Amino acid sequence: MQRALDRHAQKVESIAAAVRERVRESAPSHVSKGGVPHFVPLPGDKRRAGKPIDISSLNEVIHIDAERMECVAEPGVTFAQLVDATLRHGLAPTVVPELEGISIGGAVAGCSVESMSYEYGGFHDSCLEYEVVTGEGEVLVCSPEKEPLIFEMMHGSYGTLGMLTRVKFRLIPAKPYVKLEHRTYRSIEDYNQAMVSECEKGDFEFIDGIVHGPNELVLCLGNFVDSAPYVSDYRWLNIYYKSTRERSEDYLRTEDYFFRYDTECHWMTKTVPPLEWKPVRFAVGKTFLGSTNMIQWSRRLEKVLSLKKRPDVVCDVFIPGDRFVEFFEWYARDFVFYPLWVVPYRPAKVYPWISDDLAARIGEGLFIDCAIYGKPNGGSVDYSVLLEEKVYELDGLKTLISRNHYTPERFWEIYNQPNYEKVKRRLDPKGTFPDLLESLARVE
Ligand SMILES: Cc1cc2nc3c(=O)[nH]c(=O)nc-3n(C[C@H](O)[C@H](O)[C@H](O)COP(=O)(O)OP(=O)(O)OC[C@H]3O[C@@H](n4cnc5c(N)ncnc54)[C@H](O)[C@@H]3O)c2cc1C
Repeated sequence: MQRALDRHAQKVESIAAAVRERVRESAPSHVSKGGVPHFVPLPGDKRRAGKPIDISSLNEVIHIDAERMECVAEPGVTFAQLVDATLRHGLAPTVVPELEGISIGGAVAGCSVESMSYEYGGFHDSCLEYEVVTGEGEVLVCSPEKEPLIFEMMHGSYGTLGMLTRVKFRLIPAKPYVKLEHRTYRSIEDYNQAMVSECEKGDFEFIDGIVHGPNELVLCLGNFVDSAPYVSDYRWLNIYYKSTRERSEDYLRTEDYFFRYDTECHWMTKTVPPLEWKPVRFAVGKTFLGSTNMIQWSRRLEKVLSLKKRPDVVCDVFIPGDRFVEFFEWYARDFVFYPLWVVPYRPAKVYPWISDDLAARIGEGLFIDCAIYGKPNGGSVDYSVLLEEKVYELDGLKTLISRNHYTPERFWEIYNQPNYEKVKRRLDPKGTFPDLLESLARVE
């Protein structure tokens, strides 16, 4: 461990020196984590304006303390690497975003959730301590006890406050297999009732759902198990999201469960139908399937894609649980895009990046994350605008990973301006990193 910590200290010192150099040059910069990003590429993107600060060397799991069930890792470690390392100890992160290439730093800064989020909240809710390189090139450590506001505000900061360079977080016991039960419901009311009731009962470790249409809503319930009578494989020829329509029960290896949506990058393969055909998958699957391959290919096609009138809608929206049925009725009537991935999500606390007024309205209840991945958006209606308006009307929250259409006034009705500005002044007074309002509130 000491050798890994020494290596880490050297890497961080050279990254901090690079930031100080940028401050001397007054050169705006942005975090470049290496690997593939999970941000929707947009023309004239202010999020990636300025010079990159390369932190791709920060890609090591530094230490796993199996007894205390804690891990210390660098932020560029992907969840594929992390799961591989922790499962060797019979442990897992509390939240494993479903795409292999999502990194620890991206999960904190970009609000990742998944099927254990009904119990554990977002990945950041398992975090105990961050090391951060500020916009001045200072290295600081924060935790719930030390610099608590900085610690809390790193979540959902999208690279605008500082760079996470080391993360300490909790792990939970894991087993080698996951047993899944898929229950199909024919109405949103029945589906919602069942989902909320399962979250309350807590009999299942994993709860999420996949909606194939307004009358075909599948609740996916899972538990870790020690052994399995068989295991299904959705990493090459077979397709997980389709299996939920056909099977009421399934067994997967734990790592295959965590990354069950990776092979198709959720359902991106639907946009190139031959990629769903078994002979084609057999022949070219290794080159084209898997989220990292697919994101790399779509970035190569970025120039072609920018000819599109608007990019597809790719976004997670967190809807307050008591407004979810209302949201879905609107979605089924006016938005209409399936599959829709549904993840119950109970934040561990009211996050201080949410404005006081909104926080008072939404309280500490359950959210339902609706993950909308790939709705075509080239017609007369701009569905991205429509979605943002609806989420605002319902007191929901929308991740900022794609297009955003907020006015400054609307933006600060949702986000906590005093807290953001306080931490921005402390960490990045000269604006080395992009500003949340200027770079993300309006990205069209
Ligand atoms: C197609 C698609 C599918 C997705 N699927 C899922 C899913 O299945 N489950 C899920 O939970 N989420 C999913 N997401 C959302 C995803 O979790 C977030 O977008 C996440 O932020 C991606 O992290 P990344 O490691 O790829 O980082 P990037 O996409 O490179 O960066 C994300 C943000 O984090 C910032 N950032 C990255 N590293 C650091 C750092 N070290 N310090 C400070 N800031 C940093 C970047 O500046 C950027 O603002 C998906 C997103 C897309 C576009």
